[in-house]
Amino acid sequence: MNGVHIILMGPPGGGKGTQAKLLQDRYNIAQLSTGDMLRAAVKAKTAVGLEAQTIMESGRLVSDDIVIRIISDRMKGEDCEKGFILDGFPRTLVQAEMLEKLLAEQQRTLDKVIEVRVPDEMLVQRIAGRFSCAQCGAGYHDVFQQPRVKGVCDFCGSTRFIRRADDNEKTVRSRLQAYHAQTAPLLPYYASKGLLRIIDGALSIEDVTENIEKAMAV
Ligand code: AMP
Repeated sequence: MNGVHIILMGPPGGGKGTQAKLLQDRYNIAQLSTGDMLRAAVKAKTAVGLEAQTIMESGRLVSDDIVIRIISDRMKGEDCEKGFILDGFPRTLVQAEMLEKLLAEQQRTLDKVIEVRVPDEMLVQRIAGRFSCAQCGAGYHDVFQQPRVKGVCDFCGSTRFIRRADDNEKTVRSRLQAYHAQTAPLLPYYASKGLLRIIDGALSIEDVTENIEKAMAV
């Protein structure tokens, strides 16, 4: 199977979700966010959701078994025919190994692993102010990106906004710890395969997108 397959890696609050949404439109491929899938399961109170909820609220990682099950189902979706951007997966070595197996089974090849690199000090401030549209999911920020008309979503006109339960300072610190301990060790693995491209995530959203597009070409 041909197509474009990208992994977006980076710390919580580093802008992976924002960039994945933009790249989804640019390459016409699906954004597969395990965080979004888990939040949907929590909201729907499914068995997976009930198991994941407390772990997510504490900022730790949900078990590899659960995450692999939901992502492997999702990869078979029709919208994945042209490829996908993985946003927030893999996050452990076991998940990376399983991903390799899944990709091979579906005759897909990984094009690039993009690391959006942001210093820890910036992340807490970024995360603490973020919120999103309850209807279309567009992301906003109290300081950096308010809707053009206060209280109204720029994209769908909805007036309902939500904040994530795990976007508070205490949970952010443990999410960061999980990132450094369990996820960052995957970066050298992808570097050794020649797939890793490092992007400065401290720049503006537009500049980060532009740099990712440039990195996709080399
Ligand atoms: P995110 O939206 O990517 O920041 O993920 C939110 C939370 O969902 C994380 O803090 C984890 O608890 C859980 N989660 C999301 N993706 C994964 C994954 N690949 N492996 C384990 N836990 C995950």
